[in-house]
This record gives sequence, structure tokens and C-alpha cells, in this order.
Amino acid sequence: MAYKNFTVETDADGIALVTWNMPDKSMNVFTEEVMVELNAITDEVTADAAVKGVVFTSGKSSFSGGADLSMIKGMFSFYQAEKAKDASTAAQKLFDLVGKMSGLFRKIETAGKPWVSAINGTCMGGAFELSLACHGRVASNAKSVKIALPEVKVGIFPGAGGTQRVPRLTNAQDALQMMTTGSSLTASRAKAMGLVHQAVEPDQLIPAAKQMIKDGLKPVQPWDEKGFKAPGGGIWTPAAAQLWPAATAILRRETGGNYPGALAILKCVYEGLQVPFDTALRIEQRYFTQILQTTEAFSMIRSLFISMQELGKGARRPAGVPKSEFTRVAVVGAGFMGASIGYVTAAAGIPVTLIDRDQAAADKGKTVSEGLVQGSVQKGRMTKEEGEKLLSLITPTADYSAVKDADLVIEAVFEDRQVKKEVIEKVEAHMKEGAIFASNTSTLPITGLAKNSKRPADFIGVHFFSPVEKMMLTEVILGKETGDKALAVALDYVAAIKKTPIVVNDTRGFYVNRCVFRYIHEAYDMLFEGVPAAMIENVAKQSGMPVGPLSLNDEVAIDLSQKILKASIADLGEGAVDPKHMALVNKMVDELDRKGRKNGRGFYEYPAKPAKKFLWPGLKELFPQQKAEDVDPAIIRERLLTTIALEAARTMEEGIVTDPREADVGSILGFGFAPYTGGAISYIDGMGAKAFVAQCEKLAKSYGDHFQPTPLLKDLAEKGETFYQRFNPYPAEAKAA
Ligand code: NAD
Repeated sequence: MAYKNFTVETDADGIALVTWNMPDKSMNVFTEEVMVELNAITDEVTADAAVKGVVFTSGKSSFSGGADLSMIKGMFSFYQAEKAKDASTAAQKLFDLVGKMSGLFRKIETAGKPWVSAINGTCMGGAFELSLACHGRVASNAKSVKIALPEVKVGIFPGAGGTQRVPRLTNAQDALQMMTTGSSLTASRAKAMGLVHQAVEPDQLIPAAKQMIKDGLKPVQPWDEKGFKAPGGGIWTPAAAQLWPAATAILRRETGGNYPGALAILKCVYEGLQVPFDTALRIEQRYFTQILQTTEAFSMIRSLFISMQELGKGARRPAGVPKSEFTRVAVVGAGFMGASIGYVTAAAGIPVTLIDRDQAAADKGKTVSEGLVQGSVQKGRMTKEEGEKLLSLITPTADYSAVKDADLVIEAVFEDRQVKKEVIEKVEAHMKEGAIFASNTSTLPITGLAKNSKRPADFIGVHFFSPVEKMMLTEVILGKETGDKALAVALDYVAAIKKTPIVVNDTRGFYVNRCVFRYIHEAYDMLFEGVPAAMIENVAKQSGMPVGPLSLNDEVAIDLSQKILKASIADLGEGAVDPKHMALVNKMVDELDRKGRKNGRGFYEYPAKPAKKFLWPGLKELFPQQKAEDVDPAIIRERLLTTIALEAARTMEEGIVTDPREADVGSILGFGFAPYTGGAISYIDGMGAKAFVAQCEKLAKSYGDHFQPTPLLKDLAEKGETFYQRFNPYPAEAKAA
């Protein structure tokens, strides 16, 4: 039989080689169609007496990325539609639907013929669960092979047998570690854990897989054999009695109890290991059905999986502008940011001209890349040759005329209007026709800067975050006169350096910094009220934030806070900032010389390594503290998350951010907003505008008018609408439906 996504070739030894190679896709993924075809292939090879066994592999350079977006999205919309029809049967129907993949894999492993999975590249999620259902697993030992069950990262868990097969192949501790973190394994690590049988040279992959069958591989899984015992002996052993209480405590410490998907993994493994395999699969299926009904899973999949991919693929790119090919990018200002922007550009294979005021400063910028390359080579992430090639792409110079070959010029000079004006004029004197100028300013409105330009349509903001090599977000800022071509080029560049863009209209602080400073300022208010600093920091982390607000302020620098507050006063008047906030940063910076991590003194003390930073004890004297037991952590949590979400809502109301996907993804990638919420806007949608407005009103009464809900929020609450309905990112789909 012919298949669209697979080929099946049976050799003289009766071994059927099933090759997964989806047309028109760069990566194999599970879709409805793939499942139907795989089911038919299973029937075909099972019925064909000439077939002795099956080797399953991929025809692409990677094996498979797991489930397709549309399939996951489909499960949520299926459940919503069923619930609307008949709420009493919807969960049962969802249960049956989510069991399909697991059922297919079980069919393969019990069909009576040996299957071997030949893993030739990235093998993620459902694809690894399929491999686990095969009786043999051989992985190529190429560096590109990464094996993982990463579902927990998007709020769900491996629900097609993964939580049952992994702990039946490796000890429970490693199994839990792998699945609750979603981390990747190399082929050799997977072999050491017992998850693959062999790790071989890439060219030996198919022969080795076939050999397993020729050597008489049994078409029965260990757990289907009589007397099977899980590695380590299962749940009722002294070792397990030590592991399980610790495992729940560790998970609580790592996730703050915020991730139902992660907790479900523990439940599946603990309960599943105590029962026969088919019952265990049903337990997994039951929890998977439950998790798919949580707000966390829905919001995380939407933001962290679907929206992130859509934005990465240029959801906001104007149609009709040809895709940009970058022959050269110029970075002007080779300081802290410019040097790293040069590095990520060269790492994407694009030649870079790095310009500074003199040759020495430009050369110094390049040394940053040299250091990063050296680190990567030492850690084995890059070969020496790759490192040399990357560095050869960076040309430091003080000669502005070198911008003439660049398709894009990124300016990262001092945050000073006059300096930027001079640089814009000097660059434009040499910039070629059609090239785009992007400013990395963090505070100066783009429209104002573009006034210095002779070609404002070609002028745009591309705002990076530090550390540039690690931060995945880039804000693309539109000035009033920015044209479509500039936006397209900026988005193509962000895609080329493999970062995720959000497109933002011009405003003070753009999107991310507006939200970040709300978070920090709420912590200032708490300090004034006498909330112990340690509580602020710890509750922030328990709420899902990666760092507490005071620690974050130390990182961004307290003197930068001071500069920004002063600039707001200068531009907008005294009323623009809270005088108590201004007084606090003035005291920290001017009186106490506490500027943050950069001078080793901020809200924290930074002793010499290996000692860890600790909260500055002087804070207690500056702000007499309440007793910890008099402070309600639930309120701290509400205040910190609400103040950010409210600011995100304001940016949408003001038309600064126009797409809720961008507000959500921007909040998670930009400052780690509690990822289990799906982002700052999904936090509101998740609880419903009505509940959020009530929460704001309650907080406003006790903690100030900055918590007052906005007209838009009140309107959404009244009409029972969500942000994703009001600012629908998929208008075409809504029309078609
Ligand atoms: P920096 O002081 O480390 O670097 C600025 C560089 O510009 C210096 O190397 C300086 O020699 C060079 N320079 C100054 N005038 C120049 C001129 N006329 N021609 C060529 N080079 C010139 O500053 P930074 O922290 O890298 O910030 C640069 C820009 O990036 C600023 O606009 C800042 O707001 C923005 N930004 C900074 C951060 C951050 O975390 N530091 C984050 C996002 C954006």
C-alpha cells in the first residue's frame, strides 16, 4: 500500500523498513493523518506473513518533534465544543480521544512482531513514546541526537505511555527527573539509563536495528512478561520509601505547586507502578484527560507552544515584502549590548561590521565574542573550527563608511539623544539605498529618534535584552513613520538570529520595561509598609517568577532605575513618578552607594564567590519590619502578579501591544512572568475579567489607586469577554467558522 507520510520497504530478510518522511514539512510530527497511516501500516505488516519484523525510522535529518500544534489545539477545541453540547459526557469523550495515540502504540507493542525504532536525530515527546513502545531502540550517537519528553514545559505531560514505560526501563528517580524537567538526553545518556538498547555510529543505525531483529528480538515487552519487576523493585521497597516523600518535596520546591502537569507525572508513576500495565495506561489516560481541562495546560500550550511558534514564524510580518537575505549587518556601538548583538548575528552566520568611536573600542567589542566562543568550545558546544569561522565574520572598525555594505544597521551607542542624533546622521551618510536603521534604545521613543533621520520609514526599534546571547525575546518598536519594509527586515533579522519578536508601538518603556518596573515598584511599596524583604523575594518565586523584584532591580541596576525615574520627571513632570520611589532610589544610589550587583551592593550583598548573595541587613533598619506572621503571602502574590497584568492590560488598551499573544509571550520571555499562567494577559483571561476586576478593586482599597481596574477591563468583565476574544489574533479563522 502507498502512504503519504511513510514508505514501507521489505528486504530479503523479511524486515520492513518504515520510513517517516512527511512531504512539505521540515520536521515529522504526529497528525491525525499520520496516526491513521501508522495504524494501517501496523495492520499491514502484522498481516503480512513475509514480514518478520519492522525497523521504524525517519527520512529527515531529525526523527520527530512529537505532536503537531493543530492536534493539540484540536483537543482543547474538541473538549470546549463537547462541553457546550453536553457537559456530562464531554470528559468521557475527551478521555476516549486522548487514548487514541496510547492505544495505537500499545497495539504496535502487542501485535506479535518485533519493532525496532532507529533514532537518527531529535526525538521528542510522542515520537519517543512511540519508540518506547517498540521492542528495540537504537540511537545514532551523532551530536544532533536529542531525546526528551518535554511536555511538562508546555503544561502537559507524556500521555501516550511515557509515564509508564520510562519508569519500567529506568529507576524511578531518573524517570521522574527526566519527565518533570523535560530535559534532553544524549544517545549515550539514554543508553546508560536503559532507555535505548544501543548507541551506534550514524551509518550503522539501520544495519544495527535490523540486526536486533535478525538476532531474534522478542516481540514482547519486559512488562508484558510474567514476573516483571520495575527497576529498583517498584513502589514497596525501602529505597522507594526514601524516594517518594523527597520527590514530592523537591517538586514542590521546584514548581511551587503551580504546575499541575508536573504533579500528574508523579501521580502517574506512583500509581501506575503498582498495577498491571494496561491498567497503568488507563491511569495515565485519566490524568491526561484531567490535565487537559486545566487552565494552566490550556494557557501554557497556547503561549509557550502555539503563539511562540507563530510569532517566531513571522505572524506579524507584513505580507508582500520579499524575504530579506542579510549579506552584512553593521552594529554601531561595540559596548555591553553592541558586542553581544555582534556575537548573536555572527552566530547566525551573518557577517558583521562592529563600529565604535576608535579602533581599540571596536576591538574590545570583538573580544566579547572571543570569550563567548572560547567558553562554548571548552564546553563542547562548538568545535574549534566553528568558533574560528564565527569570529572571522566579525570585523571591528572605527570607519563609519563600512556601513555601506550593510542591509541592516543596529545602533547601540550611549543612551543619549545627542550622541544618537550624531550617530544616525553619520550612519545615514553612508547607508545604502533600501538598508534599514534599527535603534536598540531602551528608553528613548523611536518616533523622536527618527526625527533625526532623513528616511524615517526605514527607521525602527529593535530592543534586545541582556544577556543578549541568552534572552530569547526581542521587542520590535514601530515609530509613527516606520514602514512595512523596515518591519519585515527587522522581523527577518530576529528570525535569523533565532529569537522571538514582539511588535510594539512606541511608548515610554515599550512593553517589557513598563511591566518590569511595576513589579519592582510594588516591591518598593511593600518595603515601605514593612513587609520583610525575604518574604517579598520568596513569595515572588513561589508565585512562579524566576527572580524576586529586589534581586531583579539589583540586576538591572538601581542607578538605571534612578535615571529612568529622573527622565520621566524631566519629560512628564513631577507627577509622573511616586516621590517615595524617587526618594528610595536616590537614597540607595547617592547616599548609600548601593547601585545593585554591578558595584556588589544593592538590595543584596554580594560576597566573594563561592559565598552566595544575601539580602542586605541594613534594609531592616531603613524599613522597620512587620512580623512575618502578620503578612499574608497570598496577598503579596496577588499584588505582584496583578500589578504586572494590569500594566499589560493598559498597554493593550492604549494600543501599544495589539496582539494578546505578544503580550503573553513577551511577558514570559522578557521577564519570566509566571509561565504556568500562560503570560500576563492569560493570567487575566484565565481567571476571567470579572474576577480580575474584583481582585483589582480589592487591592486598590488597601494598596493604592494604581490597582484601579481600567475601563477596558471593566467592559470585558461586564460583557464576559476575554482579551483573546476582543483582540482576536485569528480573525480569518473566526470568519471561516
Ligand atoms: P555601553 O556604554 O556599554 O556601550 C555603548 C558603546 O557605544 C560604547 O562602546 C561607546 O564607546 C560606543 N559609542 C558611544 N558613542 C559612539 C559613537 N559616536 N560612535 C560609535 N560608538 C559610540 O552601553 P550599553 O549598555 O551597551 O547600551 C547601549 C544601548 O543599548 C543604549 O541605547 C541602551 O539604552 C540600550 N540597551 C541597554 C541594555 C542594557 O541592559 N545595558 C538593554 C537594552 C538596551
